[in-house]
Amino acid sequence: MTQRPPDEGSDRRKQGKSGFPEGSFPEENFPVQRSDAEWRERLSPESYHVLREHGTEPAFRNAYHDHKEAGIYECAGCGNALFSSRHKYDSGSGWPSFTQPLNDTAIGTKADHSFLMVRVEVFCSQCGGHLGHVFSDGPKPTGMRYCMNSAALQFRAAADINKEDTST
Ligand code: FE
Repeated sequence: MTQRPPDEGSDRRKQGKSGFPEGSFPEENFPVQRSDAEWRERLSPESYHVLREHGTEPAFRNAYHDHKEAGIYECAGCGNALFSSRHKYDSGSGWPSFTQPLNDTAIGTKADHSFLMVRVEVFCSQCGGHLGHVFSDGPKPTGMRYCMNSAALQFRAAADINKEDTST
């Protein structure tokens, strides 16, 4: 990880959905900061590979591609609420797919030029963890397909969330 002076990322370029300049990936600005050793300790090898190394898990052989319970999908790195089961659909891709994020601040996006393709990467706005990519071949109403890695997500059932709400 590179350490840069704090003023370097403060140029006023076009702001992305995450509030960060479009196309930049200012690791040092994410609210949740952990050392590489801490991430390795907290995450499973699969989650570490996806979230911290921009990995992609195998299609169909992952936890949530066919998961249909009602609830919220959180970031497996930091617990940030990212997606709702209400926006999940079967894209046939073998990865959990959503038509939109939970809200405007949950995720950020940036251009990804790896593997001789131009794709749009999706990352967690709180910890910067890599989640997957977004494509414009999704169904109505948004026309978007947020193609996520199960290993980057942790599911919380709606019933459990309601239980917590009433107990506080
Ligand atoms: Fe996160």
